[in-house]
Amino acid sequence: MSSPTATIDRERLATLIERERAAHRDANPESRRRFEAAQEALFAGVPMSWMAKWAGGFPLHQAEARGARITDVDGHEYVDFALGDTGAMAGHSPAPLVRAVAERIGGAGGVTTMLPTEDAAWAGVELRRRFGLPIWSFTLSATDANRFALRTCREITGRPQVLVFSWCYHGTVDETFVIDEGGVARSRPGNVGPMVDPATTTRVCEFGDLDAVERLLADEQVACVLTEPALTNIGIVLPPDGFLAGLRATTRATGTLLVIDETHTFSAGPGGCTAAWDLEPDLVTIGKSIGGGVPVGAYGMSRAVADAALAREQADYVDTGGVGGTLAGNALSLAAVRATLGEVLTDDAFVGMTTLAERFTAGVEDTLEAAGAPWSITRLGARAEYRFTAPAPRTGGESAAVSDEALDEYFHLFALNRGILMTPFHNMALMCPATSTADVDRHTEVFRAAVDELFAPRP
Ligand code: PMP
Repeated sequence: MSSPTATIDRERLATLIERERAAHRDANPESRRRFEAAQEALFAGVPMSWMAKWAGGFPLHQAEARGARITDVDGHEYVDFALGDTGAMAGHSPAPLVRAVAERIGGAGGVTTMLPTEDAAWAGVELRRRFGLPIWSFTLSATDANRFALRTCREITGRPQVLVFSWCYHGTVDETFVIDEGGVARSRPGNVGPMVDPATTTRVCEFGDLDAVERLLADEQVACVLTEPALTNIGIVLPPDGFLAGLRATTRATGTLLVIDETHTFSAGPGGCTAAWDLEPDLVTIGKSIGGGVPVGAYGMSRAVADAALAREQADYVDTGGVGGTLAGNALSLAAVRATLGEVLTDDAFVGMTTLAERFTAGVEDTLEAAGAPWSITRLGARAEYRFTAPAPRTGGESAAVSDEALDEYFHLFALNRGILMTPFHNMALMCPATSTADVDRHTEVFRAAVDELFAPRP
């Protein structure tokens, strides 16, 4: 170890992956058995097809989950840095959530009644305090929040198109499955059964490219720009200096609405990047974590957007107009939001979570430096992600170009086999209020061991 820039020996990497796969297979007979048995009735052998993504060829099956820990059906305990890809940022089953859900179901009763409960108004006021937007509506997922935000923007501007950034991810939202190929919006690889060529609905450029944004908005045909304030689904790509201010200025100048998706970037603080970086979006969308894992999404809007939407008499917001969801806004989801935002993901909790993510980042940085590994780690509040490249990618396109499936598999399996769960899609780690310093240090120790084995001089 300790060469200035270590290089990866691919042969050794393949041997290490084989060793880790075998260890994973041997240690998890019951998870493997259940996965094989489930092929009989479940599509791809899992409740949702993306669960087949876990490294090692089969997913661990969950037995229990509390705080930052998961126990699987073979009796192994894990420190969970995946946290349900942010859905469990509050930690698993925190006590206030358990109480609120029990009270809603078994106390007052009534999960889905088509009637408002007091928790909804509380949640609207709390989301306003955090994100600054005054008016809120609830959905069952962040995907739905994004879909309804896009519809609302098209409806009130009368413009047909939307602009997103290459390699973005905003949930299963048709308009957003695009990458930039020489200035043209192309369907991203793997897009399942697109209903139209996405170029008909969508314009695209690289995140951070303000000149391109200005060009694409100039003819005033774009209803809104939908973006995360930092990309988080193709590694973490932070915005270049001045980009978000420029984006706000050019959207305003062209009458284009700005929608900020805070579903993941909520990790930046109690009001996400919107509050932390003084953004002034027209709409904010969010989901996953605000209900502590109970399904819920939300979108907030300025008074001007809300008034314009309600003034459109021909737009049907109450029946079959395309904004809805029978279970959206249900009493259980909103009880969960109240408990989660009121008592778990509090302003104070973010301070502790962010401090832990700093420690996590420092542990990885020290390891990379000691090994001379030419990699990087990027942090956004309570979230950090390492990438097998340095410096950290500046656009979605750059980040996609350097993805390395073999290294991903090696690091995921090495961690899994030693009691650490990282997000299966990439190398993301998230802290929750129950994560401890010891949990972070355990990751550092395991990560260091993985790096050492990869770069150790041949005997
Ligand atoms: N927005 C962002 C930024 C996301 O990362 C995701 C999911 N990864 C979504 C929206 C969609 O969330 P869901 O799948 O819960 O609808």
